[in-house]
Amino acid sequence: MTTTTFAPMPDANGFFGPYGGQLVPPHLKQAMDDIAAAYAEVTKRQDFQDELAQLFADYVGRPSPIFHARRLSDQLGGAQIHLKREDLNHTGAHKINHCLGEALLAKFMGKKKVIAETGAGQHGVALATACALVGIPCEIHMGQVDIEKEHPNVTKIRILGATLVPVTRGAATLKEAVDNAFEEYLTNPTDYLYAIGSVVGPHPFPMMVRDFQSIVGREAREQFQAKHGKLPDYAAACVGGGSNAIGLFTAFLQDAGVKLVGVEPSGEGVDKPGRHAATLSVGKPGEIHGMKCYVLEDAPGVPAAVHSIASGLDYPGVGPQHSYLKDIGRVQYEGVTDQECLDAFMRLSRVEGIIPALESAHAVAWAMRVAPTLPKDCNILVNLSGRGDKDADYVAKLLGI
Ligand SMILES: *Cc1c(COP(=O)(O)O)cnc(C)c1O
Repeated sequence: MTTTTFAPMPDANGFFGPYGGQLVPPHLKQAMDDIAAAYAEVTKRQDFQDELAQLFADYVGRPSPIFHARRLSDQLGGAQIHLKREDLNHTGAHKINHCLGEALLAKFMGKKKVIAETGAGQHGVALATACALVGIPCEIHMGQVDIEKEHPNVTKIRILGATLVPVTRGAATLKEAVDNAFEEYLTNPTDYLYAIGSVVGPHPFPMMVRDFQSIVGREAREQFQAKHGKLPDYAAACVGGGSNAIGLFTAFLQDAGVKLVGVEPSGEGVDKPGRHAATLSVGKPGEIHGMKCYVLEDAPGVPAAVHSIASGLDYPGVGPQHSYLKDIGRVQYEGVTDQECLDAFMRLSRVEGIIPALESAHAVAWAMRVAPTLPKDCNILVNLSGRGDKDADYVAKLLGI
């Protein structure tokens, strides 16, 4: 039976080594502690765990399969590439896994509204979906600039019955949407739940979102073992905040023979300030959004501008557990540029008939880079975190297709 408790971290105060914690004012600390207490309770409640497991199966369509990308592997002439198909989930990505968990938790806690921000709209759609299913009001804050750019997602959020709050202040993009959503949350943290969209923010969110996502790695480990009689040599995933990556990695942390690789966006090059989002590769320990973690910043407390061709990856912080796993050397973090990402996006589409999300294409690109240097009996498992429908028009225009 599924349980969402797995890894021994974080400690009782939400620390992964020196990272994580709850860097929030006292009244908010109380709200976070209430969420942590409710979460601790539901992890022990069989009815809650059964409901989540049932929804994963009947609603999301889990388990997602692992596909051997045989033609791509043959062309590259080295290691075998296998794809964990999170792109086949309902709503097209891994985000539905933790959004369902958060929506069910909000219902369990008797919350009256679930609030979140969204950049490109992916988190907004997944959360609006989960809230429609669970039957709880949902409010999505989105910058006016993003609203105009991301029309299909805006329409979906409205169709799903969520309230869309346009944010017009400042640059009117993700940062302002975060500020706006957070202010609304602060007006009543007792009755509202702020549903964070990755393994970031104050404790318990990095732990909770990880636990909800850890289904990905649990399935993958079992599926791979059953099919091949052994574990993969590498498991790789893209890292923005880090939820799909930690979801895959958690099941393999104790398997010393499985090398874990997190792939960050080096954008137009890590030597170009503001034109990448390679937080773990180039950043340093600091604080952002209520947690200690690696950050990219211009000055202490001033987040740097970041960029990636994949809007789901451009974040100047990163999950605290990733920060810790980097320091202890258990996970290796590598960079992939916008150009390599585009190449992988097109190659996977044309050689395997799978259009990946630009985020996921980063992990594919890393696998494509190393596969030729590895023997044919070496196996690389890549988390294909989402599908590329949302990116198809953009890429086609960019490449003149
Ligand atoms: C949002 C998103 C990501 C990045 O989020 P993580 O928390 O780093 O996983 C990656 N892939 C897809 C498809 C996404 O929608």
